[in-house]
Formats: sequence, structure tokens, C-alpha cells
Amino acid sequence: MDEFQCIEKFFNKNGSPINPLLSNGFFVGIGDDASVFKLENNPPIVVTSDILVEGVHFSSNIKPASLGNRVLAVNLSDLAAMGANPLGFTLGLGLNKLNYAWLNDFSEGLFGASRLYGCDLLGGDTIKHNSAFNFFSVTAIGYIDGGNALRRNGMKLDDDIWVSGDLGEPISALQLQKESKKLIQPIPKIALGRQLKNVATSSIDLSDGLSSDLRHLMRASFPKNLEDIFVELYFESLVKCLNRNMIKWFAGKKNNLELVFLALQGGDEYELCFSAPSEARSEIRAISEKLDIPLTLIGSVRKRVVEQNRNDEKNKNDGHLWLKSLTNSFDDKYIEKSGYAHF
Ligand code: ADP
Ligand code: MG
Repeated sequence: MDEFQCIEKFFNKNGSPINPLLSNGFFVGIGDDASVFKLENNPPIVVTSDILVEGVHFSSNIKPASLGNRVLAVNLSDLAAMGANPLGFTLGLGLNKLNYAWLNDFSEGLFGASRLYGCDLLGGDTIKHNSAFNFFSVTAIGYIDGGNALRRNGMKLDDDIWVSGDLGEPISALQLQKESKKLIQPIPKIALGRQLKNVATSSIDLSDGLSSDLRHLMRASFPKNLEDIFVELYFESLVKCLNRNMIKWFAGKKNNLELVFLALQGGDEYELCFSAPSEARSEIRAISEKLDIPLTLIGSVRKRVVEQNRNDEKNKNDGHLWLKSLTNSFDDKYIEKSGYAHF
């Protein structure tokens, strides 16, 4: 049983809400980047929670200001994926001691992000524990400005797959013990999510790794007929997305194919991956220009043919994701599910 099967089995009751006030067309429960509900005459409200544990989600030598920024930013990234605007958040602190200088820097980082994204600290809880590893829990609340939230479940056959920004820096930095801008200061793509709300058919933020996060989009969008489709990712387009530092750090050690496979499994990107119909290409390119955020068309949703259906247990081949060379420099390669998973 992995983390997601655990949630499905014990916590996702998948029925209509117990509270009838939540039961309307706006309700989104467990399974997306955030949940959504709407009370009459109010905009839809979006809620998301993340726990960060020292040694698991961040290294013990992270600077406190960077950690303060991070605990809020990773939650806001989930709001971004839903096309929501931040409102406020609560903060759970599990600390083994009270260190004045540390708390000063942590709160500076935290309020830096709070001011930058217009998200107020509403409350929280502070406890002392006896473990060596501190932990943090943030619940962020946002709202949808007009219409519905952007979901994971709207991907259609023949849609394009897009990704924002670049890929591969955090995992490369972790492997080579280098500094990563994204690990120091992840940037939630709030403005982008808001713009994509009426263009994209599905969206997710990249926290675990593109190869596993994209599978979440596919599973949510094709719950009954996942075996009928696959996503083809374009090698040459992904090469264009590779982070410059990654290329520099691995120069002479890894070729582009190895770099792309590494970038596909790297987490902590906090970019948005989304699907959209091909008719939306010019609109998406205009959004990219307006926000000055690179958006790259990296693949498409295809009808599955028999050859893609190999069920190779040894390679954990679920047939869902394939890497294609647009210049035919290699035969299609299966992309394993290899992102971060807690269990
Ligand atoms: P993300 O990486 O975007 O934060 P997760 O992969 O952590 O999302 O979670 C997947 C889905 O399962 C989300 O909708 C989340 O709200 C839900 N979820 C995770 N843990 C629990 C839990 N203990 N109880 C209820 N829902 C949960
Ligand atoms: Mg997410």
C-alpha cells in the first residue's frame, strides 16, 4: 500500500459531503491539489494543507528565513494549481526548543512570502516535542475569482501537455550537493494558475516529479479508461526545459537523454504542468509573454495502441508515459513512475 492507496482506502469516502451546505456544483473533495467549496453568494473557497518535516522535506542546514518562506510557498503552489488567489493561512509549529535568533529569521522569511503573495497568517498552534527533527504544518486558504477552480480531472484525448519554467535543478543540486534556487526559494505560480483557469483542461503543481505528477492528472482525468490513453512527451522539447545549472553541473558526465530522465523524476520544482486543447496554443503563448514565464509544449495525450500496452512487471511498466524523439533519434522509451513517494 502506498501513500495514495492509503488515502483512497481510509480517508476518501468519495460520496457527497455530509454537510448539505457543501453539496453544490463547486464542491471538490479529496484528490486534487486543494479542496473547494462554495457557500451561497460567496466566491468558491479553496483549502490545502502540507506538512514539512526536517530531514524529509528540507535539510537540517536550511537557513531559517528560507524555511519560513518555504512552508508557505509550497502550500501556495497547490492554490496556484487550482487557479486560486491566496487569502490566509494557519501555521503549526512543532519545535524542540525556542531559539530567539532562529525564530526571528524564520518569521522574517514567512512574512516575506505572506506580504509578497497577499496571504495573512490567521492563527495556528505551537508545541514542544522531544524529537531531533522539527516539523511544520500549514493550511492555506484561497478563493476563486469567477467561475470554477482548475482541476486535475479535465484532461482530454489529443490535448497538449505544457510545463512552466525549467526542470531538473533541485534534484541535480541534491545529488551533487550544490545550491538550488528553487530549494532555497520555491516560487508558487499564482498569477499563472489564475490565467490558466479558463484555458487549461487540467493542472497540477510539480512537487513529487513530473513523471508521477503527470500520472496523477491522467488518473484523475481518465478514472475508468486509463488503459485507452497514454501521454507522449517530446524529448527535444524537454531538453529545452533543462535547467542551465543542471546542464553545467553534469557537463561531460550525463548526456541529454540521461538529464531528461533525471529531470522527469525530480521533485521540488513547484512549476505547473497542465493540459490544454491545441486550439489554445496562441492564447497560452500570449499568457507566457504577458507574465514573462516560459511555457513549453512538452507532449500530448494519445490513444493507446497495442505496442504501448506492454505490461512489464520488472520495469513497472504501466504504459502511461512514453518519451518520443521528434527527430527519430531513438525508439519510444517508457518513462517509469519514479517521483517522490512517502510510502
Ligand atoms: P499535494 O502533493 O498536491 O499536496 P498530496 O499528494 O499530498 O497532494 O495528496 C493527494 C490528495 O489526498 C489531496 O487531495 C490531499 O488533500 C488528500 N489527502 C492527503 N492526505 C490526506 C489525509 N490524511 N486525509 C484526507 N485527505 C488527504
Ligand atoms: Mg500539489
